[in-house]
Amino acid sequence: MSDTEKRTALVYAECAEGALRRVALEALGAARRLAGDGGSVHAVVVGGGASAAALGTAAAELAARGAEVVHVVDDPALAGFAPEAYAAAIGAAIAAVQPSIIVLGHTAAGRELAPRVAAAVNGGHIADVTAVDVDDDGGAAAIFTRPLYAGKAFEQRRFLPGAPQVITVRPNNLPVAEPVAPGSEGTIAALAYSAPPLWTIVRDVVRKASGRIDLAEADIIVSGGRGVRSAEGFAPLEELAAVVGGAVGASRGACDAGYCDYSLQIGQTGKTVTPKLYIACGISGAIQHLAGMSQSRVIVAINKDPDAPIFGVADYGIVGDLFDVVPLLTEQFRAI
Ligand code: FAD
Repeated sequence: MSDTEKRTALVYAECAEGALRRVALEALGAARRLAGDGGSVHAVVVGGGASAAALGTAAAELAARGAEVVHVVDDPALAGFAPEAYAAAIGAAIAAVQPSIIVLGHTAAGRELAPRVAAAVNGGHIADVTAVDVDDDGGAAAIFTRPLYAGKAFEQRRFLPGAPQVITVRPNNLPVAEPVAPGSEGTIAALAYSAPPLWTIVRDVVRKASGRIDLAEADIIVSGGRGVRSAEGFAPLEELAAVVGGAVGASRGACDAGYCDYSLQIGQTGKTVTPKLYIACGISGAIQHLAGMSQSRVIVAINKDPDAPIFGVADYGIVGDLFDVVPLLTEQFRAI
């Protein structure tokens, strides 16, 4: 399509455990800005089986926040995430909508789906977007910012005109789509899809960290390193996290030492997080750890070594023993 034509955006709105992920609303916000005032925004939700009821709730929320049409692909076979089948479901929405831009969350699922989608539409792909600069014209010449070299540098990219554009947005970086005025909500429509001839079937999902807040979407993370000294040493961190409504994370040092599960690992070979507040307790600040958390909005470091490299990226540093400092913080937050 030419850049002067009306822009249509499609959002793949990811659900997890039956609920819409916040990154789906962040993707919708980006899509609305990229489509511009004269453009239109569609969303697609995919699932089925036990999560079928939740698809309706997710679709209603998307419609209330600016999706003109929410396409619901509901099939018991899609109860578990299967990249080939989900890509086919998104493909059905693409065929129906003919979008010029497709937005997904930069989650484990989004990272699997986006290249497949880009290849299917013969489009360009910009991954892990942390900022979107849109001109008055809508997103035709939008500039996308993404981190490079484990967060040590940023690059800005734009698409060549013409081809469909596929982006993934990093969770916790872009504003969520605001609700539209009452009466202007979008509509919800069932969408059929053709299952691919061969695809992965998820038989079971074994959760190691059930009940915890998803690290990728947490606003506050209390993270422990080797300084925590034992599995029991995580207890004060768990307590602080519970009081502030945050999630618990860890350095690889703590995971390697067996103090916690690898699902909590943050860093180059773990999760990338960008919470509003990251509290690093007994973490030295190795470059591989910084790669996963240095984009956090506010970083507080607690370390008894005043020369620990973590203080180089921290906004606030507390030199002291974490077993003294963390309970004091918990007490103070509890009193608020
Ligand atoms: P340490 O470096 O041992 O630091 C412990 C800190 O705790 C020290 O600064 C110490 O002063 C402080 N301390 C001790 N006791 C207390 C106390 N009572 N109160 C306050 N402070 C205390 N690491 C990651 O985290 N994530 C990754 O994804 C990752 N990927 C890697 C990939 C590769 C290829 C490699 C080679 C390494 C990777 N690492 C990763 C490992 C990384 O290099 C570090 O070894 C690791 O981050 C160190 O963990 P740590 O800070 O908990 O431990």
